Amino acid sequence: MTSWRDLAAQGVIVCPADRGTLTVGTDTLRCASCSRVYRIEDDIPVLLISDAVVDAGHTG
Ligand SMILES: [Zn+2]
Repeated sequence: MTSWRDLAAQGVIVCPADRGTLTVGTDTLRCASCSRVYRIEDDIPVLLISDAVVDAGHTG
């Protein structure tokens, strides 16, 4: 069974804001392009732009 983690690794699931590559963490997904961080709730990624947090270290 294909999990969303596999889809993210294959680039099928991308950042909803800019279609950037998502890096899967323990409980977050981070966009390599815009540095938005999406949380994972009950092993389900919450890919909502309104719920995303932009990493403070991003300068763009
Ligand atoms: Zn993004």
